[in-house]
Amino acid sequence: MMAMDVTNELRASARTFVKRYLIPREQEVEESGEVPVEIVELMRDAGFFGMRLPEAYGGMALSFGQYASVVKEFGRTSWAFFGVFDDNNGMGSELILASGSQAVKDRVLPELATGKALASFALTEPEAGSDAASIKTTAQRLDDGFLVTGRKQFISNACKSTYFTVIARSVDATGASLGHSAFLVDRRTPGLTIGPAERLMSWRGACQHEVVLDNCVLERSSLLGDEGEGLRGALDALKTGRLIVAAWALGAAQRALELGAAYAATRRQFGVPIGDFQGVQWHVADAATQLAAANALLDKVVDDLDRGLARMRDAAMVKLLSTETASRVADSMIQVHGGVGLSRDLPLERILRDLRACRIIEGTSEIQRSIIARSLIKEAAQGRPPV
Ligand SMILES: Cc1cc2nc3c(=O)[nH]c(=O)nc-3n(C[C@H](O)[C@H](O)[C@H](O)COP(=O)(O)OP(=O)(O)OC[C@H]3O[C@@H](n4cnc5c(N)ncnc54)[C@H](O)[C@@H]3O)c2cc1C
Repeated sequence: MMAMDVTNELRASARTFVKRYLIPREQEVEESGEVPVEIVELMRDAGFFGMRLPEAYGGMALSFGQYASVVKEFGRTSWAFFGVFDDNNGMGSELILASGSQAVKDRVLPELATGKALASFALTEPEAGSDAASIKTTAQRLDDGFLVTGRKQFISNACKSTYFTVIARSVDATGASLGHSAFLVDRRTPGLTIGPAERLMSWRGACQHEVVLDNCVLERSSLLGDEGEGLRGALDALKTGRLIVAAWALGAAQRALELGAAYAATRRQFGVPIGDFQGVQWHVADAATQLAAANALLDKVVDDLDRGLARMRDAAMVKLLSTETASRVADSMIQVHGGVGLSRDLPLERILRDLRACRIIEGTSEIQRSIIARSLIKEAAQGRPPV
């Protein structure tokens, strides 16, 4: 089968899954703050946990483009559903796959690919968000391992994860810094505790928590890659993480647009459908046009990524454009609905709240702009025109 046929087939089956099993339960997740266990089981059976992982570890080895097309479909419903398997396919497994020892990969990745275990990525701290290099969590060398101490904040999936990829500052016995390193930390490690859930306006049910590491003793094999190289690996992984957030956001905005257009066709005021009014038409037209443009850029950069051509600034542009556009579209479709757009009985207000987080995670919009501008200005200083 041609690659495009496979992508279309994957996307169609993800759409059916989302429509049949998830959309009918999304309101329940908003109310309970939890993804039902049987839904997690269904997602396991459908193979969503290992889509990006290699077949050797039980995954499906999808290309990035194929995965992004599935993620767009998951954008049609609460982030909480996607959040259950997002880290297994992305930030929670990427450094293990790229830099873990063969023994660690053989042990951990099959559990992640089947969804038997969940993964989290833990970089952010109370005093280090955008400025990730300023993290205070330390990893002190021991004779045959490391002693890790610190606090991580906003860690997605922490309530359920077995494995945490933790970024810490390596220090020697005198406390001198050896740079940032990445570690695989098992939830059962003595000294690791999970704080209460953060009470956020977005992503209800996706469980963000503080993770405290109090003198956690890790084996030598927990180090992922070389000492001092962990932050570079994490920032590399953010390139794909940003594209994934963008794909989810565009899927969410697509659903908002469909709801808005359908409402414009049926709601009547002044004796005619509100879609007859130019003021409403422009909301729909602008939303559709801006979404088409953002989707085109995402699809191009995702294709570039699969061919090894996507740069950090390309992913930053996609994330910036997609998440800002998607938020505007959701807001505009609430406007088309008038007062009922604010009702918790419709998904629009939840879509807007879920999208709000997308402009902050994996680097805020301001940080994306800074990545784009710094890269262009650096090239200009070298006499290279922007491409
Ligand atoms: C729902 C959710 C889930 C998350 N999940 C995870 C997770 O699983 N793992 C994890 O490690 N982290 C996670 N995070 C943390 C997230 O990555 C950070 O919130 C994000 O990087 C921003 O950091 P901050 O919140 O500390 O904001 P700050 O860095 O304090 O920024 C505050 C404001 O200052 C601006 N700002 C900061 N520096 C600059 C600059 N140089 N130029 C211009 N403006 C600047 C920012 O854009 C922002 O507007 C999550 C956050 C949320 C909300």
